[in-house]
Amino acid sequence: MLNCTDERFADLQLLRYEVPGFDGLPLRQKLLVYYLAEAALLGRDILWDQNCRYGLQLREVLEAVYTHYDGPKDDADWQAFVVYMKRVWFSNGIHHHYSCQKFEPGFSREFLHSQLSNRQIVQLSNCQIARLSTRQIEDLIFNPDVMPKRVNQADGEDLLLTSSCNYYAKGITQAEAEAFYAEQKKKVSAERPPMLGMNSRLERKADGSLFENVWHSGGLYGEAIDRICDMLRQARQHAENTKQQAVIDKLIDFYRTGNLTTFDEYAILWVEETEGEVDFTNGFTEVYGDPLGLKASWEGYVNIIDHDATRRAKTLSDNAEWFENHSPVDEHFKKKECKGISAKVISAAMLGGDLYPSSAIGINLPNSNWIREEYGSKSVTIANLTRAYNMAAKGSGMREEFVIDEETRQLIDKYGDACDDLHTDLHECLGHGSGQLLPGVDADALRAYGSTIEEARADLFGLYYIADPKLVELGLTPNGEAYKSQYYSYLMNGLLTQMVRIAEGQQIEEAHMRNRALISRWTLKNYPEAVQITEEGGKHFVRISDYRLLRKAFGELLAEVQRIKSEGDYEAARQLVEQYGNKLDAELHHEIRERYKRLNLAPYKGFINPRYELVRDEEGNITDVTVSYDEAYDLQMLRYSQQYRTL
Ligand code: ZN
Repeated sequence: MLNCTDERFADLQLLRYEVPGFDGLPLRQKLLVYYLAEAALLGRDILWDQNCRYGLQLREVLEAVYTHYDGPKDDADWQAFVVYMKRVWFSNGIHHHYSCQKFEPGFSREFLHSQLSNRQIVQLSNCQIARLSTRQIEDLIFNPDVMPKRVNQADGEDLLLTSSCNYYAKGITQAEAEAFYAEQKKKVSAERPPMLGMNSRLERKADGSLFENVWHSGGLYGEAIDRICDMLRQARQHAENTKQQAVIDKLIDFYRTGNLTTFDEYAILWVEETEGEVDFTNGFTEVYGDPLGLKASWEGYVNIIDHDATRRAKTLSDNAEWFENHSPVDEHFKKKECKGISAKVISAAMLGGDLYPSSAIGINLPNSNWIREEYGSKSVTIANLTRAYNMAAKGSGMREEFVIDEETRQLIDKYGDACDDLHTDLHECLGHGSGQLLPGVDADALRAYGSTIEEARADLFGLYYIADPKLVELGLTPNGEAYKSQYYSYLMNGLLTQMVRIAEGQQIEEAHMRNRALISRWTLKNYPEAVQITEEGGKHFVRISDYRLLRKAFGELLAEVQRIKSEGDYEAARQLVEQYGNKLDAELHHEIRERYKRLNLAPYKGFINPRYELVRDEEGNITDVTVSYDEAYDLQMLRYSQQYRTL
């Protein structure tokens, strides 16, 4: 079992994720993962430079202090410096990864000043100190007016002049950049436009005109890109099929030229490659780091198929017909021929660039709209990252605070994760695909209530069936009792704990949250003999007194929600959502938020990567690739700064 909560500081917590099945892969696939993982780590310096033009120099100076400090470890300045260093690593720069505000250091200017005059540290970071004066370094770190925000989105201000990200040369105004790209836009296809501006820094020539300094081999970031391409070529030798080879070839071609049409060709090949068990992205991808939303930050990740989870999803979709026929829904509203959706569940094998250490748990690419329309997209959920979050939640104190008694807690500890995954599978693979509209009913008949009702339908399908003996028979649940963990967690979330994510004074707006509130509160109101909210010592808890009856309730609501959908009954949808789905009880909301606050949980989480190493025999032939999970956060960061230093 991994120790998943060993690093906690400021508002951050670092988790570890395991890569299930890696050890059992054939050597060829292990090597494919290995080289793609190396390629995913080699772009790290690109991101640091994109985030701030002084990012790499500052990192080197700070790391020199971190590794060569020789004063007392209990010194308050030193301890604050350690936290600062770890936050900078986490953000890939001196600004908060989420709020984009510059960090306020907890140590004194004098402390840093004395460190910077330490001879060893000066030597270590010599070239950087030469490029940045001590005064500049101190200003960058301490002066709140210098580079205060990485990305400024405040309406009415010049977003480029007030943002410190490094996508536009100093002094270029928002109006200039917008005019430049408006002009570029006229020159390209309106139907199938390339992602203009995504792979360059906008700069100014001596004559004052603007030009794009393109990121490609031989150009800006060329050294990093060349090393990435070397690893991609190695990976290509171990590709699983010719389509995968074509994807890699095209990507290398794009990195060589920086040509945006080549990038689109690559994106199409990538979308169409669905056979391989190993997949990856590597390159300039998301544009959140640019206030104008054009320039893409560098990211890389590698994933492998999660065989167990994919098999579970397949078992459900193979039996889709049985589930449809046995559902409590009126016969008219059932699909005549029913096919489940066979979802591919993946595990992350490496996170790099803008996905490290803070990562998304689902990925949907490419971003080009016309490619999505004509060729589709790949959408995946990353199961092992979700699992790491779940494991962290176990130690968080949430269950101790909000679950009513020890017996229920044990049930959730034992079956909770497995049943959560299963409920998600039932929801995705069967729920959304079940049922049919009556002839002539408009798919948008429920208008603004449509997505809440649709999510409720899929959730109820999952809730109804997770308690079915059929799942035990199919080997998907261990016994006839496991489902109770899901029933309790679901109602606790829908009735109480999901409120912690909503600010006080606000109502529920997001469709998934509305759906959970709707199902839970409808059940509470209509089946008081099955579920109640009780109060003990000023705290409210969910109590379930009849699990079998609860299943009946979910079945009844499923039948009704399916009817609403099938008939396009707008009025009934409106009443359900308005009555149960969006209002919050202010007093209860306050209580839940206060109890949550007292748990003092880190609001942001990120991941420490696994480490892969080649094993060679005496002749130097590679015989295996090992994976380990025990590298400390700071050591991983320092190793990356050395081993994957490219700029
Ligand atoms: Zn859904």
